Order: sequence, then C-alpha cells, then structure tokens
Amino acid sequence: MDAIEVRGLRKTYRGHEAVRGIDLTVTRGEVFALLGPNGAGKTTTVEILEGHRRRTGGEVSVLGDDPGTAGRAWRGRIGVVLQDADDAADLTVTEMVKHVAGLYADPRPVAEVIDLVGLAEKKGSKIRALSGGQRRRVDVALGIVGRPELLFLDEPTTGFDPAARRQFWDLIRALAAEGTTILLTTHYLEEAEALADRLAVLADGQIVAEGTPATLGGRANAGAKVSWLSDDGMRTETLRDPSDLIRRLVKEGADLSTLTITRPTLEDIYLNLIGATR
Ligand code: ATP
Repeated sequence: MDAIEVRGLRKTYRGHEAVRGIDLTVTRGEVFALLGPNGAGKTTTVEILEGHRRRTGGEVSVLGDDPGTAGRAWRGRIGVVLQDADDAADLTVTEMVKHVAGLYADPRPVAEVIDLVGLAEKKGSKIRALSGGQRRRVDVALGIVGRPELLFLDEPTTGFDPAARRQFWDLIRALAAEGTTILLTTHYLEEAEALADRLAVLADGQIVAEGTPATLGGRANAGAKVSWLSDDGMRTETLRDPSDLIRRLVKEGADLSTLTITRPTLEDIYLNLIGATR
C-alpha cells in the first residue's frame, strides 16, 4: 500500500480554484518534495492530506484512510510541521515538547528530540525568547516526537542558518533511513535536491512536472555548456555529450585551464518549468 494516494484533488476557495485536479502517489519510505511558486497550492494540498482542510473534490488516501474522516488513531501515525505554527510562547522548549509527547502512545524521549533538532542548549528557554530559526526547530521537534510513520513538513527550514539547515538535512536522512515517509514543501531547490527521492512541481494548482532530482523536466537529457578561452576570445558550445569537443580541444592544444562544463541546475530546470506556465 502507498503512503499517499491522491486522485483528481480539487480545492476551491470562494470561487477561486486553488488546486485543480492533482494526482499524486507517495510510496512508503519515500522522501517526496512538492515545489512551486507562492500561491501554487502546496500548503492547501498538504493541509488537505493532513486532515486540516476540507477538499472540494477528488479522492485522497493517507496511510490507508481518508484524512477528511480519519480519527485519533490515524492522527497518532502522522507528524506535522505546519507552515505557520502557533507556538505556546510561554512554555519552555522542554515543557512544550513534553506536552506534545504526551499526546502520543509511544513518543521519543523528550531530551533526545530536543537534541536531534539542535536545541539542547535552549531546552530551558521560553519559546518566546527564541530566535525565528530556533522556533522553527521547535516546530520540527513537535513534528517528530510521536515517531510518525508519515511526516509532513511545510517549508520546514525557513529562517534556518546554513549550518542548521545541514543539520536538519541529516535529521531527515536519519528519519528516512528508519523508514519514515516524508512529504515536504520547500522553496530551496538545493534542499529538494539533497533530500528528495522524487519531486513534483505545482504551478497554478496543477502538477506541471514530476520526476527525480536528476530527471525532472528533462534534466538528464539537457545539454552541457562548454566554455573555454580560444585565440578569438571566450567560446561557448552546448552539447548533449561534450566528449568529441573536449578531445578536439586537447588535440588542438587549447588552453584547458579556462575550460568549464556546466549542466542545468535543478533551479534552472525549475525556473524553466515555472516560466513555461506563465
Ligand atoms: P506559498 O509558497 O506562498 O506558501 P502555496 O503554494 O502554499 O504558497 P497556498 O497557500 O496553498 O499556496 O495557496 C494557494 C491559493 O489559494 C492562493 O491563491 C491563496 O491565496 C489561496 N488560499 C489559500 N488559503 C486560502 C484561504 N484560507 N482562503 C482563501 N484563499 C486561500
């Protein structure tokens, strides 16, 4: 059984179609990233899957249940990091994590969770006194404390400094290695590339591309841009396979110290896909 199955999902807000017929399958144990510009419908989709919003149409199955009607037992199997979490600011980090741990049947030890998100030094601090990135780490702690089978992460690393982001990536990889299925949204393409087994790009409420980080939007077949300094100045050629060109340059005794070969980044592919829909 797949962790998430979505067929023809639609959501309309007072006449505005935010999600327009999405099909999506996330298999168990997979890390799946949902990308897309502001307003594309990512949060709407994720919150429907979490059971936090009602859908207008379509079929949704999450861990075998319909999130629109699933009960407490189902809720105990999923973990959620909302985009705009409303922390209880007067509690300390430990109190907050302990409180949420109490809602689950078999929670992780509170200290272990606080350590995993890198907040050990702040465990006694009131949430109100934390920085934005540190608060976000509390949100992540609350998402994982219940040992979820399926974890939803809506823009989890917004406000994280680069070191904290890397630490978070390690945490996600460790959870994935334990078998946790993860659905994440992010605006950081390098994050999607680092974490996702598969990803989908949402634009204007529809999926415009789906694939692996290596193949999305024809990336695997995209040409390599070769640049080098010739006697006539900088030269650039774009080729699917640059081998022959490189051999020729070597033979001609070209200055290879200036040679660069670049392929489109995931961000290039993404921007191309988004641009094509506008
Ligand atoms: P972002 O990257 O900015 O978080 P998103 O892809 O998550 O964007 P959504 O929050 O799902 O986008 O919003 C999709 C569309 O639905 C937007 O046009 C938004 O204005 C609209 N929308 C979202 N929530 C509501 C709501 N509660 N009431 C009315 N319209 C809404």
